[in-house]
Amino acid sequence: MRSVSRSDARNVILIGVNDQHSRTRAEDALVVTTFSRRMTLELTDGERVPARIKGKRLKPVCGDTVRAESLPNEDEWLITGISDRGNALTRPNIRGEAEVLAANIDQLVVVVSALPRADWFIADRYIAAAEHMGARPVVVFNKADLDQPGDALDVYRRLDYPVVTTSAEDRQGVESLAELLAGKTSIFVGQSGVGKSSLINLLVESADQRTAEVSDKLEEGRHTTVNSALLRLGDGGAVIDSPGVRDYAPAFTRDDNIAAGFIEIAAAAQHCRFSNCKHLQEPGCAVKAAVEDGGIDARRYESYRRLLFLTERLAEGRY
Ligand code: GDP
Ligand code: ZN
Repeated sequence: MRSVSRSDARNVILIGVNDQHSRTRAEDALVVTTFSRRMTLELTDGERVPARIKGKRLKPVCGDTVRAESLPNEDEWLITGISDRGNALTRPNIRGEAEVLAANIDQLVVVVSALPRADWFIADRYIAAAEHMGARPVVVFNKADLDQPGDALDVYRRLDYPVVTTSAEDRQGVESLAELLAGKTSIFVGQSGVGKSSLINLLVESADQRTAEVSDKLEEGRHTTVNSALLRLGDGGAVIDSPGVRDYAPAFTRDDNIAAGFIEIAAAAQHCRFSNCKHLQEPGCAVKAAVEDGGIDARRYESYRRLLFLTERLAEGRY
């Protein structure tokens, strides 16, 4: 074995070198597609390679940065470790454990539409989930060709959340949405039928093709489908898409601080008389006072109350 040498690319180390063919390297790579335990990785130089996972314990997901090694005389790389996640989108599995769907997400794009009619409680739940996981919420009102949102989005503008009105049908607003996604890793969430897939397809023109190519090459005729993909956008951003992400419905536990998901309520709560104030009937509640004088939007407060009650009902097993 020759001594370790560094290649030009960042994070690339040549390990054992015998001849050109059995040369192995190890580097940090991004998980861009997963199909069960098979993955595609994007290396630092942009090359995409197939990979499998070492051992049973590691569970990489799209958006993860992993440590990977090439193997002598093999196309497939070996994933040997996962870097600490900045954040993760999780949902409880049947055993009640948190199953990770995607990692290192900068933005949650919360999509509502003209039809099915926007459900602002659901939107607020997604926004609360974004705040909890440390991702920026972006609010999209889609199907604007059918109906306009009126002043329903003003409350989010006042909270400084990026807001955009779009139509996947006539493409209005799609450029503005693309600008909000540039350079960031985003996921699209919202009720079924609001147009998430339609918007993603418009934003990622050739992505479907690229995913298909990758799976063809890897599967060699076997019929497993890609179950999660990180789709590259034109201007440096990415969207992580999967059936699980599309169906994602945020779940909170009684230990979660629900108020922390509503930034204006969390801010006012600092002035409540009691530190454990739930902002329902307590004396000296600064949140209730702000709702009464219009400083906090009554509908947002109602979303908070509903989410609090829903979480408590779920915790007591009374759904
Ligand atoms: P998803 O379940 O959120 O992924 O929604 P889809 O993207 O599958 O869209 C659901 C339906 O709404 C499809 O029939 C789309 O063609 C339609 N649709 C999506 N976006 C728009 C839009 O902006 N305007 C109109 N009129 N229809 C749309
Ligand atoms: Zn209070």
